Amino acid sequence: MPIDIAAGLALSKNALDIVVAVRKAIREKKKLTDEEMRDYLETLQDKLVDVRTALLEADEENRALKGALAEARRMADFGAEFTKGEGLYWRDNFPYCPTCWDTERKPVRLGGPVHSGFGEVWQCPVHKVHHVTKQRH
Ligand SMILES: [Zn+2]
Repeated sequence: MPIDIAAGLALSKNALDIVVAVRKAIREKKKLTDEEMRDYLETLQDKLVDVRTALLEADEENRALKGALAEARRMADFGAEFTKGEGLYWRDNFPYCPTCWDTERKPVRLGGPVHSGFGEVWQCPVHKVHHVTKQRH
């Protein structure tokens, strides 16, 4: 079962409370039985295992989010250099699919061109939609 960061923090607080309670008992010269000590240690161990699990899961999620952010930044940086022409996005004289960019921020270079009497015909490899252009932009 996944443990979120807030639950992990609460568990670490519980663990600290146990340590504080045991230290207080020792300071007050209270004799803890072997069974009480074993209970404290087992509870402490269980909570630390859960805290460790929460940290591992948070680390994994953090790495995934950093990766997704880096990818989104890379895409945005790529798109920042687009120019517009004939309803398409252009970069280095090649057109990119406006639907892919506008809906998913994916810079998908159109395939082609195929030359026709109307101009150059391009096709989105994702949507399979054709675009005809008169010139490069
Ligand atoms: Zn597309």
